Amino acid sequence: MPYVGSILISQYTRRFALFQRGGTSFSVSAVDISSEKGYTGHKINCVPFFTRRKGTFVENFNELLKKYADFIVRVGVNPQPGQTLIIRCSLEAAPLARLCVRSAFEAGARDVQVDWNDNAVSRSRMELGSEEALTDFKSYQLRRYLDYAESEGSVCVLHLIADDPEVYAGLDSAKISRVNAANRKFMAPWREYTMNDRVQWSIAAMPSAPWAKKMFPDLDTDAAIEKLWQLIFDVCRVTGGDPVGEWKAHLDRLMTLRDKMNAFDLESVHFKSSNGTDLTVGLADKASWESAGSRNEKGVEFLPNIPTEEVFTAPHKDKVNGVVYGTKPYVFNGQLIKGFHVTFKDGKVVEHGAEEGADLLGQLLDTDEGARSIGEVALVPASSPINRSGALFYSTLFDENAACHIAFGASYPGTTADGTRLSKEELLERGMNQSAIHEDVMIGAEDSEITGKCRDGRTVTLFQNGVWAL
Ligand code: ZN
Ligand code: ZN
Repeated sequence: MPYVGSILISQYTRRFALFQRGGTSFSVSAVDISSEKGYTGHKINCVPFFTRRKGTFVENFNELLKKYADFIVRVGVNPQPGQTLIIRCSLEAAPLARLCVRSAFEAGARDVQVDWNDNAVSRSRMELGSEEALTDFKSYQLRRYLDYAESEGSVCVLHLIADDPEVYAGLDSAKISRVNAANRKFMAPWREYTMNDRVQWSIAAMPSAPWAKKMFPDLDTDAAIEKLWQLIFDVCRVTGGDPVGEWKAHLDRLMTLRDKMNAFDLESVHFKSSNGTDLTVGLADKASWESAGSRNEKGVEFLPNIPTEEVFTAPHKDKVNGVVYGTKPYVFNGQLIKGFHVTFKDGKVVEHGAEEGADLLGQLLDTDEGARSIGEVALVPASSPINRSGALFYSTLFDENAACHIAFGASYPGTTADGTRLSKEELLERGMNQSAIHEDVMIGAEDSEITGKCRDGRTVTLFQNGVWAL
C-alpha cells in the first residue's frame, strides 16, 4: 500500500493521501493538465479527452468513461442514501466529475458538491504567495468537512486526480513542505475521520499529459494520453463492460484470501524465485492480513485506492533474513532504481546493490534508522491486470499492484490487532517498524514460490508460479 511521498508522480495511500489533499487547493501536490497553453514552466497543450475520441483507440470511449465513473462512485466511495458527497477535482477532470455527480445522486446521495482546483492557480499561489498567507488557514476550511461529518447523514469524499509530475518544478521545496505540513496540522481533526475510516473516501486517477508523456515518451501527447486511458480502463476492469460487478467479485476474492491468510496464524512467509530471491519475512506479533476494501464506522464498504490487488500485513522489524531481488524498476524522488537486490540480517539491510540507481537506493535506506527495515509485506499475483499490461506507471498507486512487494520504512498500525489503539512503544514491542518513509518496492516474480510457516509448526503453500495457490 503506498504512502505519500513528495516525489515526482506522487505516491498515494489509503491512509495518508488526505493529509496532502484534504485541505486547501494549493496543498494538492499532483494535479492535471492545464486547460490552456500551460502555465509557467510547463507548456502543456490541452487535450480535451472527452471530445476527440472518434476513430481513436476506443470507439466507445464515452460509454467506458461513464462506466468508470459509476464504478468509482458505487464501489470506490459508495455514497449512502442521505449522505453528502464532496468531490475534490481539478478543472480538467470536469467531464469525469460531472458523470460522478450524476452517478452519486442516482445512488441516493443527499447532495453532491464539487471543490475545484487548478494547476496553474496552485502553482501561482505556491510561487508568489507569502508563506504567511499560504498558512493562514480559516476555520471554514476545516468546518467545510466537519460540519457535514458531524451532521446526521454524514459525508464521504472522492478525489479525482491526474498527476503532473512537475507541477511545482523549480519552486522552493522547503517552502512547499512547510506549507503542506501546516495544512496537515490544521486539517488534523478532519484527517482523524479518514485515517480511521470513520467516513468513506476514495482516490481514483485519470491521465494527464505530463504523466502520459512520462510513460510513453515516444508517442505524441494525444497518443500517449489515449494509451494511458486505455491502460487505466484495462487495469481498473472497465474495458470488460461490467466494472461494478467485476470489482465486487474481485474484492470478495481478496477478502476470502485475507481471511484464509489470517486463519493460518502465520509466523513467517518465505519467498523463493529463480532470480536468486530467498527471503524469510517474520511477521509482527499479532500481525493481521488486510485487503484494500474498507468499511466505515457504520459498516459501509468502500475502496480507498483504485485499483487494488494486494493482501498485506506487517513484518517483524527484527525478523527478516535472506536476499531479495527487485523485479520492477522503482521510482524514488523521480529517478529510477533498476535491478536492485537487498540482503537482510535480523531485520536490517546489511548489503545492497542495483544495476541502476545504486546510490539512490543507498539514500533511501539511509533516510533514518527505520528505513533499513521493512514495514509491509504484500502478496499480489503475477496474473494481476497491471502486471499483465507490462506497463510501468511511475505511480505507486498503480505499480505496487503489479507484483508482491515489501516496503522500506513504516508499518501500518492497522496491520496488527487493535494496532490503531496502541502507543508507539507498544507497536515497537510487537515488531512494528517506524520510519518517516514507506517505500513499496516490487519483488514478486513470474515463478515466485511463497510458503508460510504457521505458529503451530505447519508449512503451507501460498503462491506457486507467481500466483495464489489458496
Ligand atoms: Zn502495499
Ligand atoms: Zn505500502
